[in-house]
Amino acid sequence: VRIAFMADKDAGPAKAAPRILAVGSGKGGVGKSTLSTNLAVALARQGLKVGLVDADIYGPSQARLLGTEGTKPVAHDKRLVPVASPWGVPVLSMAHLSEPGQAIAWRGPMAAGALTQLLEAHWEDADVLVVDLPPGTGDVQLTMLQKFKPAGAVIVSTPQDLALIDATRAIELFTKGGVPIVGLVENMAGYICPHCGEESDPFGCGGAQASAEEVGVPFLGRIPLDIAIRTQSDAGTPPAAGEGKQAEAFAALGQQVAA
Ligand code: ADP
Repeated sequence: VRIAFMADKDAGPAKAAPRILAVGSGKGGVGKSTLSTNLAVALARQGLKVGLVDADIYGPSQARLLGTEGTKPVAHDKRLVPVASPWGVPVLSMAHLSEPGQAIAWRGPMAAGALTQLLEAHWEDADVLVVDLPPGTGDVQLTMLQKFKPAGAVIVSTPQDLALIDATRAIELFTKGGVPIVGLVENMAGYICPHCGEESDPFGCGGAQASAEEVGVPFLGRIPLDIAIRTQSDAGTPPAAGEGKQAEAFAALGQQVAA
Protein backbone atom coordinates (compact mmCIF):
# COMPACT_ATOMS: atom_id res chain seq x y z
CA VAL A 1 0.00 0.00 0.00
CA ARG A 2 1.31 3.42 -0.90
CA ILE A 3 -0.33 6.62 0.33
CA ALA A 4 -0.28 9.49 -2.15
CA PHE A 5 0.76 12.25 0.26
CA MET A 6 1.62 14.51 -2.64
CA ALA A 7 -1.86 14.30 -4.16
CA ASP A 8 -3.40 17.35 -2.47
CA LYS A 9 -0.29 19.50 -2.56
CA ASP A 10 -1.75 22.00 -5.03
CA ALA A 11 -5.33 21.68 -3.90
CA GLY A 12 -5.77 25.47 -3.76
CA PRO A 13 -7.86 27.52 -1.31
CA ALA A 14 -10.21 24.72 -0.26
CA LYS A 15 -7.25 22.81 1.14
CA ALA A 16 -8.04 19.40 2.57
CA ALA A 17 -7.25 18.60 6.21
CA PRO A 18 -3.68 17.32 6.59
CA ARG A 19 -3.19 13.62 6.01
CA ILE A 20 -2.10 11.83 9.12
CA LEU A 21 0.89 9.52 8.89
CA ALA A 22 1.09 7.57 12.14
CA VAL A 23 4.46 6.20 13.21
CA GLY A 24 4.13 3.26 15.58
CA SER A 25 6.12 0.45 17.11
CA GLY A 26 5.33 -2.65 19.10
CA LYS A 27 7.69 -1.69 21.91
CA GLY A 28 9.72 1.24 23.22
CA GLY A 29 13.34 2.04 22.53
CA VAL A 30 13.41 0.89 18.91
CA GLY A 31 13.89 4.42 17.56
CA LYS A 32 10.29 5.30 16.69
CA SER A 33 10.65 8.92 17.86
CA THR A 34 13.98 9.35 16.09
CA LEU A 35 12.47 7.95 12.90
CA SER A 36 9.40 10.21 13.21
CA THR A 37 11.54 13.36 13.51
CA ASN A 38 13.79 12.49 10.63
CA LEU A 39 11.01 11.24 8.39
CA ALA A 40 9.15 14.53 8.99
CA VAL A 41 12.28 16.55 8.14
CA ALA A 42 12.99 14.40 5.06
CA LEU A 43 9.40 14.88 3.77
CA ALA A 44 9.70 18.65 4.37
CA ARG A 45 12.94 18.68 2.35
CA GLN A 46 10.97 17.11 -0.51
CA GLY A 47 8.74 20.17 -0.54
CA LEU A 48 5.80 18.96 1.52
CA LYS A 49 4.37 21.08 4.32
CA VAL A 50 4.86 18.80 7.30
CA GLY A 51 3.82 19.08 10.94
CA LEU A 52 4.87 16.78 13.75
CA VAL A 53 2.61 15.71 16.62
CA ASP A 54 4.25 13.99 19.57
CA ALA A 55 1.51 11.63 20.67
CA ASP A 56 3.89 9.85 23.03
CA ILE A 57 2.03 11.56 25.88
CA TYR A 58 3.84 9.77 28.73
CA GLY A 59 7.33 9.93 27.23
CA PRO A 60 7.45 12.98 24.97
CA SER A 61 10.75 13.55 23.17
CA GLN A 62 9.96 15.63 20.08
CA ALA A 63 10.60 19.02 21.75
CA ARG A 64 14.16 17.90 22.35
CA LEU A 65 14.63 16.11 19.02
CA LEU A 66 13.56 19.20 17.07
CA GLY A 67 15.48 21.65 19.28
CA THR A 68 12.37 23.43 20.61
CA GLU A 69 12.69 22.63 24.32
CA GLY A 70 11.48 25.42 26.60
CA THR A 71 9.12 26.97 24.02
CA LYS A 72 5.51 27.30 25.17
CA PRO A 73 2.83 27.21 22.48
CA VAL A 74 0.20 29.97 22.45
CA ALA A 75 -3.50 29.34 21.91
CA HIS A 76 -5.67 31.04 19.33
CA ASP A 77 -9.46 30.57 19.30
CA LYS A 78 -9.01 28.01 22.09
CA ARG A 79 -6.77 25.86 19.89
CA LEU A 80 -3.01 25.48 20.23
CA VAL A 81 -0.69 27.05 17.69
CA PRO A 82 2.15 24.68 16.68
CA VAL A 83 5.67 25.62 17.78
CA ALA A 84 8.00 26.56 14.90
CA SER A 85 11.27 24.61 14.72
CA PRO A 86 14.49 25.60 12.93
CA TRP A 87 14.01 22.65 10.51
CA GLY A 88 10.85 23.83 8.77
CA VAL A 89 8.69 21.35 10.70
CA PRO A 90 6.31 22.87 13.29
CA VAL A 91 5.74 20.61 16.27
CA LEU A 92 3.50 20.08 19.29
CA SER A 93 4.39 17.87 22.22
CA MET A 94 3.32 17.39 25.84
CA ALA A 95 6.89 18.48 26.56
CA HIS A 96 5.89 21.96 25.38
CA LEU A 97 2.98 21.98 27.84
CA SER A 98 4.63 20.51 30.95
CA GLU A 99 7.68 21.39 33.01
CA PRO A 100 10.95 19.57 32.18
CA GLY A 101 11.20 16.24 33.99
CA GLN A 102 7.61 16.49 35.27
CA ALA A 103 5.97 13.05 35.42
CA ILE A 104 2.80 12.76 33.37
CA ALA A 105 0.73 10.24 35.35
CA TRP A 106 -2.65 10.26 33.62
CA ARG A 107 -5.25 7.63 33.10
CA GLY A 108 -6.13 6.62 29.54
CA PRO A 109 -9.04 9.05 28.93
CA MET A 110 -6.90 12.07 29.93
CA ALA A 111 -4.09 10.97 27.67
CA ALA A 112 -6.60 10.53 24.84
CA GLY A 113 -7.88 14.06 25.61
CA ALA A 114 -4.35 15.45 25.37
CA LEU A 115 -3.89 13.72 22.02
CA THR A 116 -7.07 15.40 20.79
CA GLN A 117 -5.74 18.85 21.81
CA LEU A 118 -2.46 18.25 20.01
CA LEU A 119 -4.17 16.99 16.84
CA GLU A 120 -6.94 19.60 16.75
CA ALA A 121 -4.41 22.44 16.92
CA HIS A 122 -3.92 24.96 14.09
CA TRP A 123 -2.47 22.55 11.53
CA GLU A 124 -4.30 24.22 8.63
CA ASP A 125 -1.07 24.82 6.69
CA ALA A 126 0.18 21.25 6.79
CA ASP A 127 -0.15 18.70 3.97
CA VAL A 128 1.00 15.87 6.21
CA LEU A 129 0.99 15.40 9.97
CA VAL A 130 3.55 12.90 11.15
CA VAL A 131 2.29 11.48 14.45
CA ASP A 132 4.81 9.87 16.79
CA LEU A 133 2.64 7.38 18.71
CA PRO A 134 3.43 5.85 22.09
CA PRO A 135 4.86 2.32 21.85
CA GLY A 136 2.43 -0.59 21.96
CA THR A 137 -1.31 -0.80 21.48
CA GLY A 138 -3.13 1.23 24.20
CA ASP A 139 -5.71 4.01 24.66
CA VAL A 140 -3.89 6.69 22.69
CA GLN A 141 -3.52 4.39 19.68
CA LEU A 142 -7.22 3.50 19.83
CA THR A 143 -8.25 7.17 19.95
CA MET A 144 -5.92 7.81 17.04
CA LEU A 145 -7.55 5.05 15.00
CA GLN A 146 -11.15 5.77 15.86
CA LYS A 147 -11.21 9.55 16.00
CA PHE A 148 -8.53 10.71 13.59
CA LYS A 149 -8.36 7.98 10.92
CA PRO A 150 -4.71 8.08 9.82
CA ALA A 151 -4.14 7.88 6.06
CA GLY A 152 -1.37 5.40 6.72
CA ALA A 153 0.98 3.96 9.31
CA VAL A 154 4.71 3.35 9.31
CA ILE A 155 5.91 0.71 11.78
CA VAL A 156 9.43 0.84 13.20
CA SER A 157 11.25 -2.19 14.54
CA THR A 158 14.76 -3.35 15.32
CA PRO A 159 15.79 -6.61 13.64
CA GLN A 160 15.50 -8.44 16.99
CA ASP A 161 12.97 -11.29 17.18
CA LEU A 162 11.12 -9.92 20.21
CA ALA A 163 10.76 -6.45 18.70
CA LEU A 164 9.49 -7.98 15.48
CA ILE A 165 6.83 -10.06 17.21
CA ASP A 166 5.58 -6.85 18.87
CA ALA A 167 5.79 -4.95 15.57
CA THR A 168 3.54 -7.57 14.00
CA ARG A 169 0.99 -6.86 16.75
CA ALA A 170 1.11 -3.13 15.98
CA ILE A 171 0.59 -3.90 12.28
CA GLU A 172 -2.46 -5.99 13.18
CA LEU A 173 -3.94 -3.16 15.31
CA PHE A 174 -3.77 -0.70 12.41
CA THR A 175 -4.93 -3.18 9.81
CA LYS A 176 -7.96 -4.15 11.92
CA GLY A 177 -8.70 -0.44 12.39
CA GLY A 178 -8.77 0.04 8.61
CA VAL A 179 -5.48 1.99 8.44
CA PRO A 180 -3.25 0.99 5.51
CA ILE A 181 0.31 0.04 6.46
CA VAL A 182 2.72 2.16 4.42
CA GLY A 183 5.47 -0.20 5.48
CA LEU A 184 7.97 -1.47 8.01
CA VAL A 185 11.32 0.22 8.72
CA GLU A 186 14.25 -1.68 10.21
CA ASN A 187 16.13 0.61 12.59
CA MET A 188 19.45 -0.02 14.33
CA ALA A 189 20.30 -2.45 11.55
CA GLY A 190 24.04 -3.10 11.36
CA TYR A 191 26.80 -1.26 13.23
CA ILE A 192 30.15 -0.10 11.93
CA CYS A 193 32.75 0.21 14.71
CA PRO A 194 34.06 3.80 14.67
CA HIS A 195 37.48 2.50 15.83
CA CYS A 196 38.25 -0.55 13.69
CA GLY A 197 35.60 -0.30 10.96
CA GLU A 198 34.37 -3.84 11.59
CA GLU A 199 30.70 -4.36 10.73
CA SER A 200 28.49 -6.20 13.21
CA ASP A 201 24.77 -6.78 13.80
CA PRO A 202 23.97 -6.26 17.52
CA PHE A 203 20.26 -6.96 16.98
CA GLY A 204 20.59 -9.42 14.08
CA CYS A 205 20.04 -8.52 10.44
CA GLY A 206 17.30 -8.71 7.85
CA GLY A 207 14.61 -9.78 10.32
CA ALA A 208 12.29 -6.88 9.52
CA GLN A 209 12.40 -7.51 5.79
CA ALA A 210 11.55 -11.19 6.35
CA SER A 211 8.74 -10.24 8.78
CA ALA A 212 7.36 -7.66 6.34
CA GLU A 213 7.23 -10.31 3.62
CA GLU A 214 5.61 -12.79 5.98
CA VAL A 215 2.77 -10.46 6.95
CA GLY A 216 2.49 -8.97 3.46
CA VAL A 217 3.44 -5.32 4.14
CA PRO A 218 6.02 -3.29 2.17
CA PHE A 219 9.56 -3.09 3.53
CA LEU A 220 10.69 0.55 3.48
CA GLY A 221 14.38 0.18 4.25
CA ARG A 222 17.07 0.04 6.92
CA ILE A 223 18.64 2.72 9.07
CA PRO A 224 21.96 1.63 10.62
CA LEU A 225 22.90 1.90 14.29
CA ASP A 226 25.05 5.01 14.07
CA ILE A 227 26.49 7.09 16.92
CA ALA A 228 26.08 10.26 14.82
CA ILE A 229 22.32 9.66 14.68
CA ARG A 230 22.15 9.55 18.48
CA THR A 231 24.45 12.51 19.18
CA GLN A 232 22.80 14.78 16.59
CA SER A 233 19.34 13.73 17.79
CA ASP A 234 20.24 14.46 21.43
CA ALA A 235 21.54 17.89 20.38
CA GLY A 236 18.23 18.76 18.69
CA THR A 237 19.76 18.83 15.21
CA PRO A 238 18.00 16.08 13.22
CA PRO A 239 20.49 14.20 11.01
CA ALA A 240 17.94 14.32 8.16
CA ALA A 241 18.40 18.12 8.07
CA GLY A 242 22.15 17.83 7.45
CA GLU A 243 24.30 16.45 4.66
CA GLY A 244 26.05 13.10 4.34
CA LYS A 245 25.07 9.48 4.58
CA GLN A 246 22.64 9.82 7.50
CA ALA A 247 20.64 12.51 5.68
CA GLU A 248 20.70 10.39 2.51
CA ALA A 249 19.34 7.36 4.34
CA PHE A 250 16.41 9.38 5.74
CA ALA A 251 15.81 11.07 2.37
CA ALA A 252 15.53 7.62 0.76
CA LEU A 253 13.05 6.60 3.43
CA GLY A 254 11.04 9.79 2.85
CA GLN A 255 10.90 9.03 -0.87
CA GLN A 256 9.64 5.51 -0.20
CA VAL A 257 6.91 6.84 2.07
CA ALA A 258 5.78 9.63 -0.28
CA ALA A 259 5.99 7.47 -3.43
P1 ADP B 1 11.48 5.04 20.82
O1 ADP B 1 10.75 6.25 20.36
O2 ADP B 1 11.17 3.83 19.99
O3 ADP B 1 11.35 4.77 22.29
P2 ADP B 1 13.89 6.63 20.44
O4 ADP B 1 13.69 7.24 19.12
O5 ADP B 1 13.65 7.47 21.65
O6 ADP B 1 13.05 5.28 20.57
O7 ADP B 1 15.37 6.03 20.46
C1 ADP B 1 15.93 5.42 21.62
C2 ADP B 1 17.42 5.79 21.69
O8 ADP B 1 18.11 5.19 20.59
C3 ADP B 1 17.69 7.28 21.59
O9 ADP B 1 18.79 7.59 22.42
C4 ADP B 1 18.08 7.48 20.13
O10 ADP B 1 18.95 8.58 19.93
C5 ADP B 1 18.77 6.18 19.82
N1 ADP B 1 18.65 5.78 18.39
C6 ADP B 1 17.52 5.60 17.69
N2 ADP B 1 17.80 5.19 16.44
C7 ADP B 1 19.16 5.14 16.34
C8 ADP B 1 20.09 4.79 15.31
N3 ADP B 1 19.67 4.40 14.11
N4 ADP B 1 21.42 4.88 15.59
C9 ADP B 1 21.84 5.26 16.83
N5 ADP B 1 21.03 5.58 17.84
C10 ADP B 1 19.70 5.52 17.61
